[in-house]
Amino acid sequence: MNQVVPRSTRVEPLPPLSPPSLEPAKVSAFAVLGLSAPLLKAVASEGYETPTPVQQRCIPHVLEGRDVLGCAQTGTGKTAAFVLPILQRLAAQPKNGRIRALVLAPTRELAAQISERTWAYGKNLGLTNTVIYGGVGQRGQEEALHRKPDILIATPGRLLDLMEQGYVKLDAVEIFVLDEADRMLDMGFIHDVRRIVREVPVKRQTLFFSATMPPAIAELSSRILINPVRIEVVPQATTAEKIEQTVHHVAKRDKRALLEHVLRAEGVHRALVFTRTKHGANKLVEQLDRANIRAAAIHGNKSQGARERALDGFKNGDIPVLIATDIAARGIDVDGITHVVNYDLPEVPEQYVHRIGRTARAGAGGRAIAFCDEEERGLLSDIERVIRQRIPLAERVALPQGVAQEVQRPRPPMPERRPEQRSSSPERGRGSPIGQGPSNVPSVNSASTDARPPRARRRRYRGGSRPTGT
Ligand code: AMP
Repeated sequence: MNQVVPRSTRVEPLPPLSPPSLEPAKVSAFAVLGLSAPLLKAVASEGYETPTPVQQRCIPHVLEGRDVLGCAQTGTGKTAAFVLPILQRLAAQPKNGRIRALVLAPTRELAAQISERTWAYGKNLGLTNTVIYGGVGQRGQEEALHRKPDILIATPGRLLDLMEQGYVKLDAVEIFVLDEADRMLDMGFIHDVRRIVREVPVKRQTLFFSATMPPAIAELSSRILINPVRIEVVPQATTAEKIEQTVHHVAKRDKRALLEHVLRAEGVHRALVFTRTKHGANKLVEQLDRANIRAAAIHGNKSQGARERALDGFKNGDIPVLIATDIAARGIDVDGITHVVNYDLPEVPEQYVHRIGRTARAGAGGRAIAFCDEEERGLLSDIERVIRQRIPLAERVALPQGVAQEVQRPRPPMPERRPEQRSSSPERGRGSPIGQGPSNVPSVNSASTDARPPRARRRRYRGGSRPTGT
């Protein structure tokens, strides 16, 4: 299954592009990167004044035709970092009625978001794009493909389906983008990705983005990139600096009351709350509704229409609280999220970084609040090792029903990670001296006992049926 053909030939750069013809006084910080006038106009109308670091470092190389290996979190402006120069390169040559750029994304939300951004950035260039993803009928997508888009943005499963049915041909692709490659791996799409790569011409430009670089992703990147420029805008798995993080140690049964308290606090304007399960997300919406807090849930069991309505309401401010599971949250691109609440801690510590990256986007500040119950202390330790910092304890909260949040004693310094410890270890949170509760985290008060099975029985998603997006 691993036979992605290693690429042995160098991509020949497209012809050099003429510099934007703007008067010096009007040259924006984007123009310095070599972007053309129509794109400068588009970014100006988006209100962007300064390129973000990933844009500064990526755009000139993509314009030159280089392959790029980008280690960048979501929220860093990476979509524009690849879409803007791709548009410029495609616009430099006549349309040929073929798909000339392919962008693969792990979820339908992210794919839709990239498509929307591509329309916005490319509106002055006359280039077209089509987005295809699963979970909706394919008829509209067939028709859109019939209109011969220049750029195709797709999730892997639906793309393969349509390729197999003969609706998509990738043999004219000049630029191939793999976005959020680590998510592709987590969601079990890596074999689909390999199959798609085999259908794309060997002679191409490839842009590869991933927030983290686990070994399987590093291996894939080395097979499909040629002499790439490496761009790392945030060191691997470090947390966005502008996010103020805190953790509440709280009994599981008090989490809901604490959430209400947190959401009612001053300054909470738009909050994204993460639960582990779809059922948990639905339940929370009902409970918040009873407390007169308007919320909506977004997860893989919701229809595309319901997800879009929830997202629209969240974007336009009608719904101030969005409850999401991890997979559904990929690709949510909403500005102005003031708070991210980890109602349940993620099973995979790297996921914490993705979650909190939803706030503090593009340079704004934001707050991330984690709830950690007695069973989640091993997970908290894992997260703190990944982000290489202790998450400060939140101030104690007296909950309305008189149940005080459990005692928060200061914790000892963070222990070193043991080399053999893996985040997916079945013993995590129970057996490891680091993950164990009593030695390095506050003790649980008697009110907090809970008879749930150990966390080790819960599984990390590793493929199988496609949860979303394909
Ligand atoms: P991304 O990381 O591509 O998901 O982008 C995160 C957010 O930053 C999106 O809402 C973009 O519209 C916004 N954005 C991207 N580039 C810039 C920029 N140079 N200045 C301000 N906002 C930006």
